[in-house]
Amino acid sequence: MIVEMSRGATQEQVDHVVERAHSMGFEVQLNLGTEKTVVAILGSDTGKADTDMFAVLPGVESVARIMKPYKLASREFHPRPSKINVSGVEIGGQRVVVMAGPCAVESEKQLMDTARAVQKLGAAVIRGGAFKPRTSPFSFQGLEHEGLDLLAKVRSELGIPVITEVVDVHNIDIVAEHADIIQIGARNMQNFALLKELSRLKHPILLKRGLSATVTEWLTAADYLMARGNRRIILCERGVRTFEDSIRFSVDISSIAVIKHFSHLPVVVDPSHAAGHYAYVPSIAKAAVAAGADGLLIEVHPNPEEALVDGLQSLNLPNFEKLMKELRPIASAVDRYI
Ligand code: PEP
Ligand code: MN
Repeated sequence: MIVEMSRGATQEQVDHVVERAHSMGFEVQLNLGTEKTVVAILGSDTGKADTDMFAVLPGVESVARIMKPYKLASREFHPRPSKINVSGVEIGGQRVVVMAGPCAVESEKQLMDTARAVQKLGAAVIRGGAFKPRTSPFSFQGLEHEGLDLLAKVRSELGIPVITEVVDVHNIDIVAEHADIIQIGARNMQNFALLKELSRLKHPILLKRGLSATVTEWLTAADYLMARGNRRIILCERGVRTFEDSIRFSVDISSIAVIKHFSHLPVVVDPSHAAGHYAYVPSIAKAAVAAGADGLLIEVHPNPEEALVDGLQSLNLPNFEKLMKELRPIASAVDRYI
């Protein structure tokens, strides 16, 4: 249930609503907007509570039930788009934030060379997997702790934020120490034990869409991350499984519009994991920016033939440079910049 306070509502009036909700056994989260405060009343049986019990309280403007299963990710709770600041880089603002780097951290040289080059070409965040969720247990699983140390080195030497994936509850704290944004991979979108543990962090978290998750399931997974007050959640469309098998996953460009309609959270697009092939990455990236994506997550490798993971879908540096050039006029056509 969402209780919208009137413009001039006092702190005491807000506190009174909160106390009433607590006394009924509900949890509460506040959105202290610049104009008005919105109180989300959360719990498994808020449906049984009478909206009039809140509507009569002083300072309350309106009370609405949210029919969607997600609440905190919804526009009703937070009407304005969220802007997430990551070490000075704003995600969800005017800039289309390009996060680029190798699929997996392979060595200091590979990561440093890629990071320096993509930063020069306009990337605002460096990506690199240290723990890799591989389909086969016999595939390279990542450099793990050594990979995290290398990412932290890139961050301190180049002064650029880094994003890396966490795959296991046991590594949450170590990943949080080394990364500016924590990534949850598509395969873990509904790993609720992992999401619950991550919800205690204050870090920005990038939540990828599950391989066959609906937008509603994806936003409801975001609510798990927001349940303890973290509002810095970034969604990432990376394609879903369809009948089409000419590329790995079909990018749901329309999800950008749907997310913008129903949610305040920023959404970025990963064309690399959707495409599975470097030749398709530029078109998908351009379509995403034109459709209003707040950023891109792109795999780049200085030498894709030698990549240990996802070489086929990685852009080499000249191709990344070309794409960045081509993206700029598209971004400005939709009143953004890169
Ligand atoms: C990744 O970004 O490294 C990755 C494994 O992507 P996804 O979870 O989308 O498959
Ligand atoms: Mn990859």
